[in-house]
Amino acid sequence: MTEIATHGKIHLLSEEISSRIAAGEAVERPAAVVKELVDNSLDAGSSMITVAIEEGGRRSIRVTDNGEGMCREDAQLACQRFATSKLTSDQDLFQLTSLGFRGEALPSIASVSKFRLLTLPRGECIGTELYAEGGINWTSADHSIPAGTQVEVRELFFNTPGRQKFLKSASTEFSKICHTVQQAALSWPTTHFRLIHNGHAVADFPAVLSCADRFLQVYGNRFCEQSLPVNHESGEGKLEGFISSPYHCRTTRSIQELFVNRRPVKNATISHAIYEAYESFLPKGRHPAFILFVDLDPAMVDVNVHPAKREIRFTHSHLVHGMVKQAIRRPLSQHQPDREHACSTNPHPWLGKQEMRSSQIVFPDVSAMMVQADPSQKDSPFVIRPLERESDHKSLASERASVYSVEQDLDVVPLGQVHHTFLVAQVNTELHIIDQHTAHERVLFERLWRAWTQQSVQTQALLIPEPIDLPPHEGDLLAEYLSDLLTMGLEVERFGTHSFVVRSVPAMLGPMTYSNLIQELLQDLSEWKSVNSLEKKVRPMLASFACQGAVQAGRAMTDPEIKQVVMDWGREGFPMTCPHGRRIALRFSLNELQRIFGRDPKSG
Ligand code: ADP
Ligand code: MG
Repeated sequence: MTEIATHGKIHLLSEEISSRIAAGEAVERPAAVVKELVDNSLDAGSSMITVAIEEGGRRSIRVTDNGEGMCREDAQLACQRFATSKLTSDQDLFQLTSLGFRGEALPSIASVSKFRLLTLPRGECIGTELYAEGGINWTSADHSIPAGTQVEVRELFFNTPGRQKFLKSASTEFSKICHTVQQAALSWPTTHFRLIHNGHAVADFPAVLSCADRFLQVYGNRFCEQSLPVNHESGEGKLEGFISSPYHCRTTRSIQELFVNRRPVKNATISHAIYEAYESFLPKGRHPAFILFVDLDPAMVDVNVHPAKREIRFTHSHLVHGMVKQAIRRPLSQHQPDREHACSTNPHPWLGKQEMRSSQIVFPDVSAMMVQADPSQKDSPFVIRPLERESDHKSLASERASVYSVEQDLDVVPLGQVHHTFLVAQVNTELHIIDQHTAHERVLFERLWRAWTQQSVQTQALLIPEPIDLPPHEGDLLAEYLSDLLTMGLEVERFGTHSFVVRSVPAMLGPMTYSNLIQELLQDLSEWKSVNSLEKKVRPMLASFACQGAVQAGRAMTDPEIKQVVMDWGREGFPMTCPHGRRIALRFSLNELQRIFGRDPKSG
């Protein structure tokens, strides 16, 4: 390190040290390197970008494009700080149309890695190779490569051990890189993207014409079927993309992608507008999934507020808020849940005439479960009541009749359904208003839990096994736990590198979208390693099964179905919350009703 001597305590840092410090801001991990390099390839007008990494990018990252390339002088300049072809005057900073503009990425990355750049401008035949370790002692040579640019970054942070320590495991870094490539692919559908990890192709998104097609490539059919398209244009700008239908909102924020002028960003104004638009459509504790592309006049957007350009600021944020809210509200209010939930076919607005799966709910016969509650487990909070009906295991039932006599007296008169969501019934002498989803969810959960604790989960093979495509990091996570899932009655088989098929499911669950279930389970599984007790691991998983397998809000139900749900819930001891803690019912005793209506109990 060379320091400039001064008389006092303060001295200027050398170029070498200051660029290493600056590197820490924009390049905090392998995924950030990938992002900067892919941004450069996109700015260079590439139609094909290949990202090849080793060990989650910790060992090497190589990004190859077929863009405009650079002549030798430009390439040498590009590796110096604040060298950019994208800004010529400071005015441009307020009218950005390129992804890069600071002229910092290449020198920053080079200063903390073993860095090689190969490039050839279109129409020329001799390419250039530049090489440096830690950003010093640059060498340059002729090199023959196809037109375009390739940047190779090896041993990131080899000279800043402090930073290297903060890198996560290869699989975590890999999943962040997958996400980065996926985000780039989403906003640049006409560019072909490939991702290769340790020599294996893990993603391949050939060029397509529209966002919708790319969306389909990235997220697959099932997710697309559950989304509503958004298309909006006004004086403020343009907004397009996809949002989850209110019935497919999630327990996590796992799919929330926002792009402003094609840049993936986080922005509180827009998130707030989206949640406000969902308002009454969103059950408590649920989150919408969205992939939204907002296009605004670049003069309205300040990108220069975050080192990695992940955050932006708007000059008129209230205008943007209003536009987003309006754009999201429209498809939500036009969406007709009853049709989706009651019809067996529903051509999706933008997937053409694809058939939706039948969402008819079949209430499985309890006797099919063969769950035998064990009275010795009465202490367990989850074993509340046995499930036998008169027809089941006569001896067992009579043996326990005295212990569980309440259920024998259950008298349920179904009175109807409100908004296809709440059941109304007279239960013995009480009036109940019951949330059909949470009640059924609780019943399924209790049954699954009992069956699991007794290792007797009955499964049912799917006639048509359902294929599910997952991004590589999720695929690896799922593959790790296939045998655990089997103990819960879910048989999933790997099928190719990132495809899986669901072969059988717990018999007691109704039909459901298995890709949703898998998504929920992946959330649960991602926390498995941090939980010690097996029971604590399994509980949320079974809750996810129950939630996905239960009748959804918005589904019309017949009187016999209402009666069965209420009976089943009653047999579980009328628990008042679902496994996620939401309320199941309001109960009014006869006394209470009489009191409310000022009726004297004795006068009749
Ligand atoms: P910025 O992108 O902010 O301009 P970078 O350090 O990322 O800064 O890149 C410096 C310059 O190098 C760019 O302005 C561009 O002219 C050139 N460059 C970088 N990567 C490529 C590439 N893949 N193809 C062509 N030119 C590139
Ligand atoms: Mg750049």
